[in-house]
Amino acid sequence: MHRIELPRLVLVGEDILPAVGECCSNFGFKKALVVSGSKTYDVAGRSVAEFLMDSGVYVERFIVGTGDVEDVNRIVERVDKLGAEVVVGVGGGRVIDVAKLSSHRAHIPFISVPTSASHDGIASPMAVVKGLGKPHSVKAQTPLAIIADVQVISGAPRRFLASGCGDVIAKCVSVKDWRLAHKVKDEYYGEYAASLALMSAKLVMENAELIRDGIPEGIRTLLEALISCGVAMCIAGSSRPCSGSEHMFSHALELLDPGIKCLHGERCGVGTIMMAYLHDLDWVDIREKLRTVGAPTTARELGVPPELVVKALTIAHKIRPERYTILGEGGLTKGAAERLARVTGVI
Ligand code: ZN
Repeated sequence: MHRIELPRLVLVGEDILPAVGECCSNFGFKKALVVSGSKTYDVAGRSVAEFLMDSGVYVERFIVGTGDVEDVNRIVERVDKLGAEVVVGVGGGRVIDVAKLSSHRAHIPFISVPTSASHDGIASPMAVVKGLGKPHSVKAQTPLAIIADVQVISGAPRRFLASGCGDVIAKCVSVKDWRLAHKVKDEYYGEYAASLALMSAKLVMENAELIRDGIPEGIRTLLEALISCGVAMCIAGSSRPCSGSEHMFSHALELLDPGIKCLHGERCGVGTIMMAYLHDLDWVDIREKLRTVGAPTTARELGVPPELVVKALTIAHKIRPERYTILGEGGLTKGAAERLARVTGVI
């Protein structure tokens, strides 16, 4: 049996935060735990809590600290104590991931209110949380609703938008890796989920200028692309359509330098350039589009030493050994990794 769980409600628009109250009362929720970050609470968390209270929902708040599994455990405890019926996550990638995984563990629904468009976890059933012993995402649950306010998101630093573009453009490679695994390993492959992920990448690349300029239409395109990628993962039942060798490269960098400063989508974008070269895709065009949106395309722009890029390329295939990609089972030799990074201008 192939089980598909999709979000029930997706709201994208300007000044739509007040809708969170009506949304919760329509679903019949009377007690909510609002999970936010220390900064994002001021940006949108407080307003969301107030809109919920205005709709007669009892609200308690939780501010995410380090964003690791300890936070997840604390949230699950709070949910139990409060008898909360829903977790509303208001924040960036880390907050959304922690809130999503906690709600899943507490067996209650999750509502996603992103304050930035930096990665595709906004609508996906997956979460990356530190302390689980896995550098990559784990299955959590599909958000019941996604409320993405274009105004709030356009107020986030421009760098987050560029990172979101990197995470979407990455699908050019991840879908190729999936097809390859289907051919070589007879892995399940879903054309619909693959097409949805690929179409998102295509639309973001076509609208790169509008996104760069912060035009609401461009931001909306990026948001819808990120949400579509999440839906592609819901349909596939895993992150397969949206995470291939380029994500493994990003996770390998994180593994080598746990304190790494660059953003998830920024690393994935650089990984996409190199893996696109291996796949014989138009990596120059991919690099151009990343440059257009202001995303990093080199190790220097990522703030990472060249040796670390080479090392990450040689260990990337070990990140998820069960997930076959263009890196094969043996991965790249040091010489091949160095050549790849040089020929694509990453180092
Ligand atoms: Zn990603």
